[in-house]
Amino acid sequence: MKTTSVRLAVAGAAALALTLTPALAGAAPGRPGEPRFSEGADGAGDPYFPLAGNGGIDVLHYDLDLTYQLPDPAPAPLEGQLDGVATIQLRATQDLDRFNLDLRGLTATKVVVNGKSMRFDQVENELRISPRPKLKTGTEATVEVTYGGTTTRPRDIEGALYGWVTTRDGAMVVSEPEGSATWFPVSDHPTDKATYDYEITVPEGSVAVANGLLVDQETAGGWTTWTWDAPDPMAAYLATATVGDFELDTYTAANGTPIIDAVDPALPDSASASLALTSDMLVFFEEAFGPYPFNSYGAIVDDDSVGYALETQTRSFFSRNAREGTVAHELAHQWMGDHVSPGRWADIWLNEGWATYASWMWSEEQGRATAQENFDDVMTIPADDDFWAVVVSDPGPLCLFCGPIYDRGAATLHALRVEIGDDAFFELAQTWVEQYGGGTATTADFRALAGQVSGLDLEDFFDVWLDTPEKPTTW
Ligand SMILES: [Zn+2]
Repeated sequence: MKTTSVRLAVAGAAALALTLTPALAGAAPGRPGEPRFSEGADGAGDPYFPLAGNGGIDVLHYDLDLTYQLPDPAPAPLEGQLDGVATIQLRATQDLDRFNLDLRGLTATKVVVNGKSMRFDQVENELRISPRPKLKTGTEATVEVTYGGTTTRPRDIEGALYGWVTTRDGAMVVSEPEGSATWFPVSDHPTDKATYDYEITVPEGSVAVANGLLVDQETAGGWTTWTWDAPDPMAAYLATATVGDFELDTYTAANGTPIIDAVDPALPDSASASLALTSDMLVFFEEAFGPYPFNSYGAIVDDDSVGYALETQTRSFFSRNAREGTVAHELAHQWMGDHVSPGRWADIWLNEGWATYASWMWSEEQGRATAQENFDDVMTIPADDDFWAVVVSDPGPLCLFCGPIYDRGAATLHALRVEIGDDAFFELAQTWVEQYGGGTATTADFRALAGQVSGLDLEDFFDVWLDTPEKPTTW
């Protein structure tokens, strides 16, 4: 039933795109060199999530000024009150008479563009803004959106909690793949990376933990404002502003990276014991993937659960327990997924395959199962098992986080390592991060770079491992 409703939603989106086409086609022709103003598309063009992200704009920076509180006592079902002012620097990538931001379940009350109030409306999860004067290609604009509403516990297309997830003591904020729209107006697709800063005001005693470095903390009148600076380009799904009871632990890792861990004091010490390995892991993964790409790192370990961990940029999120293998997995994502992000959601195996493979490498480094043994373990899965029926390079939006994306993805990388040798494999990993870091890349980019670095024709290899819904036997 879930599948059916999803398919209908996608078909509906396609129909909507069609109805918008005449407006685009009807834009004033103009003389050569003159602006041709039209509407920015309502999505970034990703077939898995047609309305995620937006056309015609490139967001450069989000300044998120949030105020959040829960009623006391916390109601059932859990609800909070979120009010925000998002100040967004963006650049027009086409001549725009209207553009969209994604905003879901919250109400915009005022939109100001370059200091002037503007007309806007909200249709489903799209906030549509008509700037006057219109924006010519290449123009930068400051867009200030005042918004707010009641927060709940939203779910993604697969039914998993995500976005601004209200908890008894605050909120867990983890938004993969397109849940950031549940807490701020956003161009919610990885291809539109931006820098962020946050001022998060919460009742005194609550802690707000976001990406990057904590630069200020001020308490007045029963409220505390937490100011965080995240200057490294970031995909929207990796942004967080988690709120709750947290103890902050700050130190410098062996590689020089400032670490800020936030652990819920309601948890036993064992829940966060593996975080002590972060410093050693940073050194180990720098050897494999190159210099750590961001200004800081750390973890959030909350006593509520979304049912998974997430590699929120510079500050990985863990539900109730940060296990060693997961700590390695989320840290490796900082290079593979966060610094180099998927160009389309179909490329998700590049995130999960690399992070899973990195945890195999860490296991081997610690004298436990080797990468080869983990690979052999995957290959014991019988050929008629459904595990092998997923096309890893195009799993569909309901299978972004299926087991094979992780384990067959990692097995693909191990088979590639054996095929091209350690020198070429790690040269490939580091070149990948250097070449695409700060942006996005696709499976086609990875195949091309692997061929280039190794000097081998790997097309049959990748066809067998990534494109064929069968257990690889020869490659
Ligand atoms: Zn992962």
